[in-house]
Amino acid sequence: PGTLYIVATPIGNLDDISLRAIQVLNQVSRVAAEDTRHSRRLMQHHGIDTPMLALHEHNERQALKGLLKILRQGQDMALISDAGTPLVSDPGFPLVRACREAGIRVSPVPGPSALVAALSVSGLPVDSFCFHGFLPRSPAARRERLEAVAGQSHTQVFYESSHRILHALRDMLEMLGGDREICVARELTKQYEDVMSGSLDEVLALMEGDAMRQRGEFVILVGGVSRRDRDLPSEDALRVLDLLLDELP
Ligand code: SAM
Repeated sequence: PGTLYIVATPIGNLDDISLRAIQVLNQVSRVAAEDTRHSRRLMQHHGIDTPMLALHEHNERQALKGLLKILRQGQDMALISDAGTPLVSDPGFPLVRACREAGIRVSPVPGPSALVAALSVSGLPVDSFCFHGFLPRSPAARRERLEAVAGQSHTQVFYESSHRILHALRDMLEMLGGDREICVARELTKQYEDVMSGSLDEVLALMEGDAMRQRGEFVILVGGVSRRDRDLPSEDALRVLDLLLDELP
């Protein structure tokens, strides 16, 4: 059988694509894309004219059979999404699952993801984090989810759209308190890239006061509860340090 390549594409800046991604997109017989019209812009920008087919949330299960057939015939295929890494809050999971179960090779061509890009500039601990994708749309379910993570000690990461960004932040204020350290990473790699950090109170005030800052795509990162305590040396460590200092000449 052929290989299914999972290819990461830019999250804004069209030049954020790897040389190997361009090679693979050129070499495969088909590119399965979430939205072929959207991806055509990227393909054209890099001079790639491989035929595309649509694989989105609504046809993924029906399209599976056809895609598996192409791969079984020995043709290589690539999967891309509208932005970033496929399967990360994007289509592709049933296809990858089915390929792995069928013994078809699935190979990554890694690259951008808004999640990792945001973590890397947030100034919040990255050693341990929890990614939630999009928060539920209904206010009750959203608050329930936030309540469930309120006591977590590692960084919590959420995706959000401009429609719900303020609602999400206001719910966070209610469930997590205004002192909680957060970072809102907006429009990463694009013209109006904006990374806001501080207390939830501060960041919300900043965004409420400026309609421009409410537009675009967002990653919300919430600091864990005991971050400060965890970063400080423990009582034991301080005692040992004291003893050692006493021994210094
Ligand atoms: N697969 C993508 C990835 O790897 O990041 C995520 C796809 S998901 C449908 C789209 C969401 O990702 C947006 O609503 C936003 O929360 C986040 N996102 C994508 N591009 C972004 C960017 N340039 N800046 C900030 N957030 C972005």
